[in-house]
Amino acid sequence: MQDSQNLLAARQRLLGGGYRLFYDQPLHVVRGEGVWLYDAQGQAYLDAYNNVASVGHCHPAVVAAIASQAAQLNTHTRYLNDAIVEFAEDFLSEFPPELRNITMTCTGSEANDLALRIARQVTGGEGIMVTRWAYHGVTSLLAGLSPALGEGFQRGENVWLIDAPDSYRTQPGAWVASIAQALEEMRQAGVKPAALLFDTIFSSDGIFSPEAQRVQQGVALVRAAGGLIIADEVQPGFGRTGSQRWGFLRYGVTPDLVSLGKPMGNGHPVAALVGRPELFAEFGRRQRYFNTFGGNPVSCRAAQAVLQVLRSEQLQNNAQEVGCFLRQGLCTLAAQYPVIGDIRGEGLFIGVELVLGHEQKTPASQIAAAVVNKMRQRQILISTTGPQASILKIRPPLVFRQQHAELLLQTLGQVLEEVTA
Ligand code: PMP
Repeated sequence: MQDSQNLLAARQRLLGGGYRLFYDQPLHVVRGEGVWLYDAQGQAYLDAYNNVASVGHCHPAVVAAIASQAAQLNTHTRYLNDAIVEFAEDFLSEFPPELRNITMTCTGSEANDLALRIARQVTGGEGIMVTRWAYHGVTSLLAGLSPALGEGFQRGENVWLIDAPDSYRTQPGAWVASIAQALEEMRQAGVKPAALLFDTIFSSDGIFSPEAQRVQQGVALVRAAGGLIIADEVQPGFGRTGSQRWGFLRYGVTPDLVSLGKPMGNGHPVAALVGRPELFAEFGRRQRYFNTFGGNPVSCRAAQAVLQVLRSEQLQNNAQEVGCFLRQGLCTLAAQYPVIGDIRGEGLFIGVELVLGHEQKTPASQIAAAVVNKMRQRQILISTTGPQASILKIRPPLVFRQQHAELLLQTLGQVLEEVTA
């Protein structure tokens, strides 16, 4: 095995400039188990960031399901096979009854991309609304809808940026007003709305969970103007937000389309778009959708195993309980360290906004970066989010227990002491 310095140099030489690694001192891990990652020396790191390995790194049931199906059959998706139908039937039972079709893909980006194609075709509209610091994926279409890409972002054609429902800096209702304004601008420009696409916990915008009533109002405006609602559950889905399996359920709205990804295969690349059958039928009348790997037998067995573990280990419940414990501990730290301006989130999806001054609320981006790197030096992995990267993002695998939360809180206290001394 190469040492970390050689690996880093080789990576830069071979993979080129588009990639970014986490941490000033990038982590070279060789093994994972539960909430732990291990480096080559056997040093353990508490993973408090990874929502992909959602049921725990290398969960034995998921590993076994992948291995056994891979040993039996894996092929493209144009033959009859039991795995996709068995999975679809079971998985769709997790959704409101209006959402009864699924298209399997390999990535969340493909799911969002398909959602937009369907929305534009079915509504005959073009206008799409996304929040001001959203991230929705890697295709050229989605890059134009992902301002979180930063400096290089180029807004796509007929894309409107709306405010995030920022509970810390803006009045309740600002998000709805921003939707109304975008719809009015579309009307004036002669652009028919196609969809509102939103991440149901606004992960990249800074982690917000608006009141149900506000979301219902926003949704009603879009629908009245003829647009569809696409819920991006790639980050918040699969029980992470604790009280519900899917983020949109917290708001009491049923989207037309729901995109899913990251935790769906616990690291195996499997993703999907779930939605109203009429929409898929209308789309299918005029277009075909063929995704070579999307819904292959191995992916379906992986996703099925993840779903079973989520249920049998009651991980949504755990997200709710441990998330609550963690937020309480963070509130205690906030009373000691004024650099903590706000604590947000649901279940095991938590944002801790760092600021300089509670009145000014100046984003403390440098402090946030220092906290993340110092936590990493103490073997605890978190990251940041938000337009200024000033919000600590804590989003561990759902097998994160109280003792892990205690360790995180204790270490965060030490680090805050150090960075604010
Ligand atoms: N939507 C959201 C909210 C995401 O966070 C991401 C990935 N970061 C995507 C979509 C795209 O998913 P993928 O990387 O699997 O294409």
